[in-house]
Amino acid sequence: MPIKIGSHVSMSGDLMYLGSIEEALSYDANALMVYTGAPQNTIRKKVEELKIHAAVELMKSKGLSFDDVIVHAPYIINLANPDPEKRQFAINFLSEEVKRTHAMHAKQIVLHPGSAVGGDRLQAVLWIAEGVNKVIDNTPNIPVKIALETMAGKGNEVGKTFEELKAIIDLIHDQNRVSVCFDTCHTHDAGYDIKDDFDGVIKHFDEVVGKDRISVFHINDSKNPQGAAKDRHENFGFGYLGFDALIHVVYHKDFLNIPKILETPYVEEQPPYKEEIMMIRAKTFDPMLVDHLKAKANL
Ligand code: FE
Ligand code: FE
Ligand code: ZN
Repeated sequence: MPIKIGSHVSMSGDLMYLGSIEEALSYDANALMVYTGAPQNTIRKKVEELKIHAAVELMKSKGLSFDDVIVHAPYIINLANPDPEKRQFAINFLSEEVKRTHAMHAKQIVLHPGSAVGGDRLQAVLWIAEGVNKVIDNTPNIPVKIALETMAGKGNEVGKTFEELKAIIDLIHDQNRVSVCFDTCHTHDAGYDIKDDFDGVIKHFDEVVGKDRISVFHINDSKNPQGAAKDRHENFGFGYLGFDALIHVVYHKDFLNIPKILETPYVEEQPPYKEEIMMIRAKTFDPMLVDHLKAKANL
């Protein structure tokens, strides 16, 4: 079975979703992730303006599966905001995001669970679960999963531990609508030994949450050592995780059918994804990759 590998791509300008698919194809990707607008704000175009039909036709003609298209909610959304009006705004916005995700034929939307403003993590877990339940109630009969992302634990981010994710998941009324996005940089930064013991980490995850919950991976190297709680992504093979550890994750037998998404950083404004995907498919590290991208940038 060929691996499913792609990157986050942009959705903007006139081409919108069609442009996202074209961008993914330009990287030779067979999976992709999009934000429905800028990730740091909640300004969104109307569904009719997203060029969904043309995007879908292009996907079909190129053999891309809708199972391998992932939407990511903007990261400023915080279902654990202590201000009830802001929580309600987050619920309303996410409900619309779930509808957009479905209109785009995608089957899952990644969500950063939230941040425990003030530090009360238990209260945050309760608000997040309540919010997710309301989003699901607002979108009945829409078969889109909300994929809670494993977080690095920067500041008061909730979802740093598998136990915390499990606590949220246990409170969700419709278990078919919730899954997990497993980010290699975040779990490493949260303290898990992804580099030398991914199998052990997955065994632990399986005992706590259940490995079948994982519906997408974010494959990122990390600029910081294990446990740093920083959340700074590095190019594939160039960070503290390294090439072999990340290849082990990408080709892990338990997750062959699960899409893998790169969120590695641009190098001097050059997207690294075509080259990184090539390295991953060849399973061969190019230690000059970043230098090549820099040279390309300076042409
Ligand atoms: Fe994320
Ligand atoms: Fe991520
Ligand atoms: Zn991150």
